[in-house]
Amino acid sequence: MSADPSCAAAAHVLILGGTTEARRLAGALAVAGTEVGAGTDRGTAPNPVPEVEPGSATATHAPLRVTTSLAGRVSAPVLPPGETRIGGFGGPAGLAAWIAAHRVTHLVDATHPFAERMSFNAAEAAALAGVPLIALRRPGWSPGPGDDWHFVDSLAGAATVLPELGSRAFLTTGRTGLHAFAHLADTWFLVRSVDPPQPPVPPRLEVLLARGPFGLDDERELLARHRIDVLVTKDSGGSATAPKLTAARGAAIPVVVVRRPPVPHGVRETASVEAVRHWLLHG
Ligand code: NAP
Repeated sequence: MSADPSCAAAAHVLILGGTTEARRLAGALAVAGTEVGAGTDRGTAPNPVPEVEPGSATATHAPLRVTTSLAGRVSAPVLPPGETRIGGFGGPAGLAAWIAAHRVTHLVDATHPFAERMSFNAAEAAALAGVPLIALRRPGWSPGPGDDWHFVDSLAGAATVLPELGSRAFLTTGRTGLHAFAHLADTWFLVRSVDPPQPPVPPRLEVLLARGPFGLDDERELLARHRIDVLVTKDSGGSATAPKLTAARGAAIPVVVVRRPPVPHGVRETASVEAVRHWLLHG
């Protein structure tokens, strides 16, 4: 299915977001279209949309309507250009119904690689609603020379290996799932998250409320200041490496890496915002 500019008035892309990639895609499409930014669903405010230069090459693809959906986990989310709606859909059937009701023509799963349920919901809903789906998924990380990485399948697996690797852990897996570490009374944790974590949490815990991106110097300083001797991360991926991983390598600190969950079979996938934009505009 393609969004031919000649009949593109009906084109409406729903981006399942909550990631930097989703915001980048919404930004790229806002530049490509002229009818984005019309409003919001469920009470969020319209966002400024980059102006389209008259006569610019991308302006010929207009109009294209873009809606980004956020789960509503973060209290003050960074909103993308275009329309936004916030909150769950009520499972795959609810998402399929939303797609039909809002005349969505293209679905993009740009959720975080660890948002497993939503990716499966997206695949099922796309099939139910009969709309094409593409997944925008950043590549994972790979260890390089000097890295001491320990791969596990889950946060529970991370909690199992952690005490053998260190006693002062920097936990960068987000504020949810801390219950997996709550029984580790002998480990001191530094937890970095956007919003405060909810109990149950480990007894010896310091919370650092912060939103990335984080620079290498800051990561190095953080590891040294808190005398961190083990880092825990999800294989969130993104750029070739992350400053926290580079800092851990430099300090010879072991890293526990939680592997990615499975993805639905048969869904077209790319790591490139430009490839999604091309798919939307040219099929
Ligand atoms: P999840 O476990 O895969 O999804 C749980 C439920 O949350 C879904 O069934 C859905 O509810 C709702 N949901 C998830 N993403 C949504 C979206 N973009 N728009 C509307 N509803 C959504 O998801 P999660 O791991 O809790 O992640 C939630 C959000 O945070 C995602 O948007 C993800 O991109 C972002 N995020 C997650 C992580 C992570 O490590 N998991 C990290 C950074 C950002 P219904 O079934 O009711 O539709």
